[in-house]
Amino acid sequence: MSREAIRTTCPYCGVGCGVLATPQPDGTVTIAGDPDHPANFGRLCSKGSALGETLSLEGRQLRPMVDGTEVDWDTALDAVADRLKSVIAEYGPDAVGLYGSGQLLTEDYYVANKLMKGFIGTANIDTNSRLCMASSVAGHKRAFGSDTVPGCYEDFEQADLIVLVGSNLAWCHPVLYQRILAAKEARPDMRVVVIDPRRTNAAEQADLHLAIANDGDVALFSGLLAHLVASNAVDRRFVEKHTTGFETALELAEPWTITQVAGATGLSTSDVAMFFDVFAGTENVVTIFSQGVNQSVSGTDKANAIINCHLATGRIGRPGMGPFSITGQPNAMGGREVGGLANMLAAHMDFDKANIVERFWSAPNIAREPGLKAVDLFAALEARTVKAVWIMATNPVVSMPDADKAREALLGCHTVIVSDMYATTDTARCADIFLPAAGWGEKSGTVTNSERRISRQRAFLAHPGEARPDWWIICEVAKRLGFGDAFAFASPAEIFAEHAALSGFENGGTRDFDISGLMDQDYDRLVPTQWPVRASSSPVARNFADGAFFTPDRRARFIATQPPPPKATAPGQVILNTGRVRDHWHTMTRTGNTPRLSGHYAEPFVEIHPTDADRLGIRGATLVQLENALGRAVMRAQVTDRQRPGTVFAPMHWTGAYSSEGRVNALVAPMADPVSGQPGLKMSAVSLYPAKVALYGFAVSAARPDCAAADYWATARAEGGWRTELGLFEATDDIAASLFGDATALDVLSYSDAKSGRASLAAFAGPRLVFALWLAPDPVLVSRQWAVAQLTETHDKPMARSAVLSGRPGADRPDPGPLVCSCFGVGANQIAELAASGEATTVDAVGAALKAGTNCGSCRTEIRRIIDAHRLQAAE
Ligand code: SF4
Repeated sequence: MSREAIRTTCPYCGVGCGVLATPQPDGTVTIAGDPDHPANFGRLCSKGSALGETLSLEGRQLRPMVDGTEVDWDTALDAVADRLKSVIAEYGPDAVGLYGSGQLLTEDYYVANKLMKGFIGTANIDTNSRLCMASSVAGHKRAFGSDTVPGCYEDFEQADLIVLVGSNLAWCHPVLYQRILAAKEARPDMRVVVIDPRRTNAAEQADLHLAIANDGDVALFSGLLAHLVASNAVDRRFVEKHTTGFETALELAEPWTITQVAGATGLSTSDVAMFFDVFAGTENVVTIFSQGVNQSVSGTDKANAIINCHLATGRIGRPGMGPFSITGQPNAMGGREVGGLANMLAAHMDFDKANIVERFWSAPNIAREPGLKAVDLFAALEARTVKAVWIMATNPVVSMPDADKAREALLGCHTVIVSDMYATTDTARCADIFLPAAGWGEKSGTVTNSERRISRQRAFLAHPGEARPDWWIICEVAKRLGFGDAFAFASPAEIFAEHAALSGFENGGTRDFDISGLMDQDYDRLVPTQWPVRASSSPVARNFADGAFFTPDRRARFIATQPPPPKATAPGQVILNTGRVRDHWHTMTRTGNTPRLSGHYAEPFVEIHPTDADRLGIRGATLVQLENALGRAVMRAQVTDRQRPGTVFAPMHWTGAYSSEGRVNALVAPMADPVSGQPGLKMSAVSLYPAKVALYGFAVSAARPDCAAADYWATARAEGGWRTELGLFEATDDIAASLFGDATALDVLSYSDAKSGRASLAAFAGPRLVFALWLAPDPVLVSRQWAVAQLTETHDKPMARSAVLSGRPGADRPDPGPLVCSCFGVGANQIAELAASGEATTVDAVGAALKAGTNCGSCRTEIRRIIDAHRLQAAE
């Protein structure tokens, strides 16, 4: 490979940042933001910056496997085709399902959809994007007649008011958040309102934070619609000329007075009034919404309640304004474009256009009805009406609601085929046939980001072992099923050309998705381009500027919405909200491989408001059991007033690979929005109990420990090895031997105090620490950052070894505190100390002194919080 930088895109969130990847002679890859990519102009967040550290082949399964035995590709592909054929022959095509992912490239998705809906003859192809943004899709289609994101990222910078609804943009889409902060710095009059039950990092930087009750959004935006009418902020000309349904929507919205809204949302009347006034009085408003809106049983209504307010004010399709759905995944949009959802066909066509797709594909078995959406697909697997499922690039045993049931459904299924990079994911462990897929950097194709911008993902590494790109695997199976002519693609470029041609086929401006202008483009040189880009036309940055929508009468639809009934909880239960942390992605199959990203949060946790913690007898840093009729989880308690009373928050990332009981979706009911089919992942009723822990432990070790003997464990990669949190429900003498094996060849130091119940053990091979274990009846107080650093330090002096055993840094090695800046390894104590000394009172000053926050900038909000906390303390 040359040392020339390859232009590609980040494989994580829906911002779709451009990346320059430069393979180095030593096999490493240097990563930088692409200064010419219009999504990020050179910026990358902590996850994007660490991409080069995720490329190790460690843990990859690089040969196909059938029934647990490694085989060659022909044998594996024949097995896939034979088993699918036999299920189809006996039970029909609807007994087959395919579950894809927003991680797939558009070309992979295109052939998967073509195979299922055009040739096998079932629409049972759905995707983890159903869990991410299906409610936005449904909201767009109800309002606009098409799944069209109206605006572009530039609007964020041109807006005078940004409203973030259900979006911790600071952590989940950090580069866009940085763009907003930069715009706000340049134009201090710009305001940001955050509507979120939690005081997230995004909320902390906002001019106004509305800590709304979970699922209070429909009431809030209904009230806003009524207020817009009352304050004469409605654009009557736009409403009359370009919309229908205004009066009906208003009828349901009008009873939502400010007092009513405050009652339903738990907000103060003054905060509600302030938000309503600023929205009504600002022309350039962008309302950005994400998973807090989508992942709800009323998600589609929430999306439409927001869109209604933009339609009422005519604030759509023009610079600096519009409703804007941000997708979670890098290619959720591409999946929508090719029909990766069970209720869409291809090129944004619905099933009423099946004849068009049938003609274009010369499809022998075109599906004419929607198939099973994700929750229904897994219910059908459980009911054994779907007998064979092919899962690509996703981990539903962790991410689906009622995750334990999803695992049981797969374990009981006739044929489970999994295409993935790793055979060790919770889902791949259920596979009968495992197909090794090429990963990021190894495969080529396109992705579409949240602003409809299509960018190339380019390979810069050879396929390792026998790993192959998904499009190739799907085409090879299609050939073996007898559909060779329709799947004779030699490259992703050929697939893209067909996809582009289909988008323009019999379109004539009647359908939103049209990229026929890219059909004859040199695929290798394709630059990031927004759609639509019709033949002989320029790309379109903003849609609906002309007031013409894709409904039959070309008018947008107001949708009458009603708030859902309050969530029922049993006495003592609280509402569980789930979401992301800053440095991990989905089920951690890649980010979990890097010590840098694993240092920010190294174990699953649950955030609890202090009043709930008091009521439930839960102390900070202890272990907590979360339980309901569906399942249970054990997590570390973080007691914080950033949480609303009566609600708790837990991250969705932890899997069985990294924790004993951190799979939070085991507690989530498979209840879905009736329109979109998207499950309500953020609203489960759970009971919380202090876990009965007799002994807490923390360990660092050069090798991954065997945690089977621990009742609770969570392990994470660390520089030089692993860091592991432990909990034992009964004290045991030989836990160290279970964790680390025979230590007789090592130099072992130990300490124990029967009175306090504390003990520690440190084992060295020469000057190197092999493992250290600290045990205590209470949560172990050892500084994690310091302890991890011992794995890479030299311990040739007795003092240094004693310090490890005691778990206390020497006076010359102050405790840096919990990791804040993962790029430069700066901890909270270091920042606090600087703030306390008066040497740094701004984020930039901290950056100048410690470098923290000067690379990707993802930690800047946390740095600001530490400085502010110090300022408050000093003022008191
Ligand atoms: S914001 Fe971060 S995770 Fe998202 S695409 Fe950009 S670099 Fe990747």
